[in-house]
Amino acid sequence: MSDFTGPEQYQNLFDPKAYLDDYYRLEGDCMGDEYLRFSLKHLAQIYSSGKVKGETLIDIGSGPTIYPLLSACEVYKNIICTDFTDRNREELKAWLTNQPGSFDWSPVVKLVCQLEGDKVPWTEKEDHLRRTIKQVLKCDILESNPTDPVVLPQADGLISFLCFEAACKDQPAYVSALNNITTLLKPGGYLVLSGVLGNTYYMVGKVKFSGILLTEDFIKEALRGAGYTIVSFERSDTTEESFQDKSNFNALYLVLAQKKCTGLKGGSD
Ligand code: SAH
Repeated sequence: MSDFTGPEQYQNLFDPKAYLDDYYRLEGDCMGDEYLRFSLKHLAQIYSSGKVKGETLIDIGSGPTIYPLLSACEVYKNIICTDFTDRNREELKAWLTNQPGSFDWSPVVKLVCQLEGDKVPWTEKEDHLRRTIKQVLKCDILESNPTDPVVLPQADGLISFLCFEAACKDQPAYVSALNNITTLLKPGGYLVLSGVLGNTYYMVGKVKFSGILLTEDFIKEALRGAGYTIVSFERSDTTEESFQDKSNFNALYLVLAQKKCTGLKGGSD
């Protein structure tokens, strides 16, 4: 357990620029390439279905990234980004305000436009996303109100990518964090949760961060226990061996789940 990197390590050691450079350049030598293509493809499908939409979407644990929101901004009017660390939120704000030196997401934006059938020019989508992100808030998924002291009205949608496996020290903590964020979602609202399976660590620059080992069965059970119906579970087993020095996951997953309308939260474990 002592290997667990918790909130303090994230605040002090997680370098947003190194993270973006290590994982989101969308180039063959970049580890995030496979994950980006997998998740963006499924996001484009989910948000073009017409079923998943609404006024407000909250991204839980955005880090310094915006890629999961590029298709979502076509179907939600407002987006709230959140993250635990000050530096990640600052990096995100730098991109939102188009500051020189902020990360270049344009290859990723272009890919999403392509996946959506080139309906809008990429610059237009980028501007649209910048206008749709209305707030960048501090959040801690380990707290019962993750955005404390801000109390948000329940949102129509939640999205969370690669955050739970990083932030939680074990499976009970994961279950509890899932219950925490579920309070932010309206009954009937949709959650898109995505990440990696079989992973125990990942590198950000030279710093090693822990991950908890997740399985498909555990995630499904945790979602059902938190009061969701699983709509779809996409999974892709990776064959890539060449990035073992950076992370050791063996599969990618993306799940769409709907919060039940019964008002009962289900299991309290
Ligand atoms: N969603 C981004 C970032 C994932 S990296 C992406 O898809 O790339 C993991 C993120 O979890 C980091 O940004 C880190 O700051 C955040 N994090 C770690 N502990 C957290 C906590 N307790 N609550 C909320 N976010 C946390």
